[in-house]
Amino acid sequence: MKNMSYVDSVLNTVIARNPGEPVFHQAVTEVLDSLRPVVENNPVYQQEGLLERLVEPERVIMFRVPWLDRNGKVQVNRGFRVQYNSAIGPYKGGLRFRENVNLGIIKFLGFEQCFKNSLTGLPMGGGKGGSDFDPAGKTDHEVMSFCQSFMNELYKYIGPDIDVPAGDIGVGAREIGYLYGQYKKITGRYEGVLTGKGLTFGGSMGRKQATGYGLVYFVREMLAGVGNSLEGKKVVISGSGNVAIYAAEKAMQYGATVLAMSDSNGAVYDPEGIDLALVKEIKEVKRGRMKEYCDVKKSAQYMEGKNVWSVPCDVALPCATQNELNEDDAKTLLKNGVIAVAEGANMPSTPGAIAAFQSAGILYAPGKATNAGGVATSGLEMSQNSLRLAWSFEEVDKRLEDIMVGIYNNAYNTAKELGMENNFVVGANVYGFKKIADAMLAQGLV
Ligand code: NDP
Repeated sequence: MKNMSYVDSVLNTVIARNPGEPVFHQAVTEVLDSLRPVVENNPVYQQEGLLERLVEPERVIMFRVPWLDRNGKVQVNRGFRVQYNSAIGPYKGGLRFRENVNLGIIKFLGFEQCFKNSLTGLPMGGGKGGSDFDPAGKTDHEVMSFCQSFMNELYKYIGPDIDVPAGDIGVGAREIGYLYGQYKKITGRYEGVLTGKGLTFGGSMGRKQATGYGLVYFVREMLAGVGNSLEGKKVVISGSGNVAIYAAEKAMQYGATVLAMSDSNGAVYDPEGIDLALVKEIKEVKRGRMKEYCDVKKSAQYMEGKNVWSVPCDVALPCATQNELNEDDAKTLLKNGVIAVAEGANMPSTPGAIAAFQSAGILYAPGKATNAGGVATSGLEMSQNSLRLAWSFEEVDKRLEDIMVGIYNNAYNTAKELGMENNFVVGANVYGFKKIADAMLAQGLV
């Protein structure tokens, strides 16, 4: 029997050692599969148990989060922080508050975050955290009570040079504000320990827009690479949260029409083009449901319990959550003529969907490259906090644009050098990996 390859033996260990964590297996498999050409042809990357160390988090913290609800009843949630890899900088990555959060989800997100952060070119390691607490339907007071209790434990493990959390699903400006207030109360220190802060207390201009805008800067480059542009294109976006809203805004600025958006209850299709001011009013101001869009705009159609992928489009931007676009959805998009798919969410396309896009030869780019603008701008927020400066929106946006163009070029050139032009999965994973791997090897067996 042929000897098992190094990559396969590490993959087998990951699956055996992390039972019941399918999304974590999925994320590691995708990355390691795409690293085969560099790892298996390069003995440097087979030394010091490099891959075994890469897939194992440096530290996993799990803790109890007790809090009082509006009726004075005790509630107990579970908190997580996975400090994945600090080879190239302090741990950096968001906090997700959503009912379905578990350790496997946080590990998959933390693993992805390492490569994403490496791609930005900024000195940030990878981490991720969160809780199975869902802010939806809670009062502000309940959210504050939860956030304070969460920080009562988390503060022991974070710091501006140690680990700098940010937002993710369910963690926006309100939650970051409460978390920051409690950190300051406990430690007595006013420092850049969280990003995504309010503008009056150390937040960065442009952070709110960064992930969505950055995604569309990447799409612009990707289309330009094949002599095309966003002008006049039909775009479909899943989700209606932070990433989705600002992806829609930038796509519209480039002359595209956004035809559909969604939330976890259903999708809205507006043949006249989505009215983004109305979406912002419903989601950002009222914290309402997308269904309410159709009460106001009569041209629109609500598709209860459905996703957006049946709406014909040129460009599809999944911006909601993991595994929200499966192989059947991919086939529908392809049948309807999609030419580019770029991920605002983390791992929204299933492996079957990715295979369908790649074998059809359309442009497909994974979240760790395309949604890196959020963490990149968080990195810029850290720099401003350290410098005690606040840059203008234009300055931050220009730096974001330069970083996204850099990520596109690095992923494109890396894939091309490997003879896999326009394979952004390989390009992003290999480019992100090399920097982390070289740093880990230089730092010895730690
Ligand atoms: P938000 O909480 O602001 O928005 C999430 C959106 O996705 C909401 O519209 C939500 O609907 C929808 N959604 C969630 N779960 C599902 C589901 N199962 N089916 C359909 N829709 C769903 O989160 P963000 O916009 O910040 O994050 C979205 C994605 O982008 C996540 O994968 C996140 O990890 C990723 N990301 C975010 C970054 C950021 O800077 N915010 C940076 C990089 C990646 P509902 O209102 O019903 O909950």
